[in-house]
Amino acid sequence: MTSDAVVTAPDVMPLEFVPLLRPGIGSDARVRIDAEGGAPLRCCLRDSRPGERIALIAIAADGPRGAYRETGPVFVHADPCPGPAQPGYPADFRRRAQVFRAYDWSGCISGGTVVPAGSGQEEAARQLLSDPRVAFVQTRNVVFGCYMLTIRRA
Ligand SMILES: [Zn+2]
Repeated sequence: MTSDAVVTAPDVMPLEFVPLLRPGIGSDARVRIDAEGGAPLRCCLRDSRPGERIALIAIAADGPRGAYRETGPVFVHADPCPGPAQPGYPADFRRRAQVFRAYDWSGCISGGTVVPAGSGQEEAARQLLSDPRVAFVQTRNVVFGCYMLTIRRA
């Protein structure tokens, strides 16, 4: 007897790491040549490289609704860009402690956890997403609180 059913154990739940679709750069954006690099780019999910033209803009990431929808500062490329070169949790972002916030299907917050710098990001996301009431997770910087990326079940 055979079965086509695929059972996915929680510890191998495939994840999708969603970049920010590069929004329009408004007149209030701060555009500059990044001389030193190291700014976390939400469009390409990597740190900027020295000499890249980047913009600091205010965005409200898709997902959270009502009182949970927040506007805050993020870096993006100032010019059209290809997006992430690799799937998976962004390697450059692992060196930053993050708060992972879980949101339910109506966009209300439903939990979260602080994830230290290092290598435990996927496990933290899978733990939060193992609750079927959780629709997506958003990660933010611990100190400044700015949005980094969205994580969903793939
Ligand atoms: Zn980019």
